[in-house]
Amino acid sequence: MDSKTNSIHLQFNSFIMEKDKVVFCRPFYCPQCESLRRPLDEYYFVVFGHDSQAFFIHKARYKGIKWITPSIIFFDGKQDDTHKEIMVACSVVGCGMEIFHTDDKEYPYDINIKKVRLYKITHADYNALLGYKDETYKLD
Ligand SMILES: [Zn+2]
Repeated sequence: MDSKTNSIHLQFNSFIMEKDKVVFCRPFYCPQCESLRRPLDEYYFVVFGHDSQAFFIHKARYKGIKWITPSIIFFDGKQDDTHKEIMVACSVVGCGMEIFHTDDKEYPYDINIKKVRLYKITHADYNALLGYKDETYKLD
């Protein structure tokens, strides 16, 4: 696989396909990347394009805070008066994501989410996360 952007087909685990889910891509702390002391600038990661509603793969050139990784965050509406429950998947391939080849000529790659972590965050933190644009791993 070369380092240029490859569009990948959304074939995906069923939980992502449900209509009511909010899916967005933000930097988030990954304990697994930290425990492995993973150097992010050597890895591929997956991002979700909100406008295209598709997933893309990039080679990391990330020079931000260590182990705050590009992550895909899901919110399916589960909340109470003070908190929302979000699911966070680290976007680093080999951590929260895995890539596999398909026989499809148009979409030669597909992704699986290997691992999702559940967090309860306040509504204010959720809104801050939604509004946060990290320019340090801004895409071409
Ligand atoms: Zn990770």
